[in-house]
Amino acid sequence: MIVEYLRQLSFSFFNTPPQKTVVSPSRNKISEDPDLKIIWNKLIDQYFNADPELKKYKVVWSGRSQKRVLASCNIYSKVVRVAPAMKFGDAPLFIEPLLYHELCHAVVGFITVGRKRVFHSRQFRAQEARHPQIELLNQWIKLGGWTKSVRISKRNTTKRPSKSY
Ligand SMILES: [Zn+2]
Repeated sequence: MIVEYLRQLSFSFFNTPPQKTVVSPSRNKISEDPDLKIIWNKLIDQYFNADPELKKYKVVWSGRSQKRVLASCNIYSKVVRVAPAMKFGDAPLFIEPLLYHELCHAVVGFITVGRKRVFHSRQFRAQEARHPQIELLNQWIKLGGWTKSVRISKRNTTKRPSKSY
């Protein structure tokens, strides 16, 4: 996953009270986003020999608004989740390298060091470096682009009453 570490402290300002986890039918029904999936598949064709196993992944917009996690990859359930804030500001420009980062997680998995799982291993970083926009993505995060997108998304997302259908 891509987590923004550098500005953690400033995020406390935006913190909302912890949300209750409710198991609702809508949470279990994961619907893929066709546009994200097109980029995902294109990256697989380009970098991983069109591997059909990788194409089994579902790529979805995360239901929860996330302030620190841009995206995550679950290698067991084969689901990649992208934070809704990635739709705002200049974030859409960085969707491809972001999905590539998650794709590398799907390919590399993790190594175990002692009792710790290491996801961003040297092997992972080598794989990741093959994409020319990874550095740009990291710069964008470092320079506050992601923080800005989160802020814009908060302004533009109308709060809906929680409802279960
Ligand atoms: Zn990661």
